[in-house]
Amino acid sequence: MKELGIDTLNNSKVIIARDRKDRPMDEIKKEINKEDNEEYNKECPFCRGNEEQITEETYVIKKNTQWIVKSVKNKYPIIDNNPLNEIKGEHDVIIDTYKHNGNFYNMNEEEFYNLLLVYKKRFKDFKEDENTKYICLFKNYLRDAGASLMHPHSQILSLPFIPPNLEEEYKVCDGFYKKMGINMYKYIIQEEIKYEKRLIYNDVDFLVFVPQVCRFTGDTVILFKDNLYFYEVEDNKLKKLSFILKKLFDKIYEENGNCPFNLYIHAHPVNEENDYRDIYNVHIHIVPRKFNFGGFELSTGMYVSSIKSEDIAKKLKFD
Ligand SMILES: [Zn+2]
Ligand SMILES: [Zn+2]
Repeated sequence: MKELGIDTLNNSKVIIARDRKDRPMDEIKKEINKEDNEEYNKECPFCRGNEEQITEETYVIKKNTQWIVKSVKNKYPIIDNNPLNEIKGEHDVIIDTYKHNGNFYNMNEEEFYNLLLVYKKRFKDFKEDENTKYICLFKNYLRDAGASLMHPHSQILSLPFIPPNLEEEYKVCDGFYKKMGINMYKYIIQEEIKYEKRLIYNDVDFLVFVPQVCRFTGDTVILFKDNLYFYEVEDNKLKKLSFILKKLFDKIYEENGNCPFNLYIHAHPVNEENDYRDIYNVHIHIVPRKFNFGGFELSTGMYVSSIKSEDIAKKLKFD
């Protein structure tokens, strides 16, 4: 049976075709390339010890005098502050860990926590420029997910406008609020807890779940329950979030092996009079690139879902 579904977070149209899950698909390899298996790689610009190969550091966290996580200016930025530019902004690379062979599947809680502290710090710094309207924070893991270098890294950039996907999300929650008189995310939290089968994890500060209809199959959402700006989330909450990331990525690895993925934080606009403070909740999308998209999706702007969110959530559940 084929149905038409709507991703409630962003209003995307999705064709639900459950029988496609039985189509043959190549296995994803569990192991990591041998040459990337060492903690240090002499060719890698992001490795500790190869500092002369990279551009200016913007923030560093050290342990016993040596850096463990840091952000640097992107050498090949999407956006920069060249006075000749029509659009200006900043673009940093965040080196998730000094370990060349580190990744979200093997990092420990403390490593996640330090990384989150850098995310927050650079987010806060970028917001200081009043021309910035949106701060985009994301991570690509493996070439299939868009990563160009193996060494674990994330990216953060500031934009002088609100990008279309976010405009859509703000529009959706604004419309919901005008119609129903409540925050859509609070409503989703309530309903998902009641339904239970799409929940992965739930505590006082976060809800981790797979939305009923997802534009990208397997899209796992970590939702902040309070209406906080990302840059003002308290460090104890980031601690909890690092626990969640550790547990969740253990589960994803168990289920999908060394699967490419994208992770991105969706947050409020900055320096805008109407910033949807009380009706929008910061959340993190984690999209495994196991069920990739192709010509149909690029051609139509529609997505195809073959796996039930309940089945994905069941396998990733933790406590
Ligand atoms: Zn490296
Ligand atoms: Zn979102």
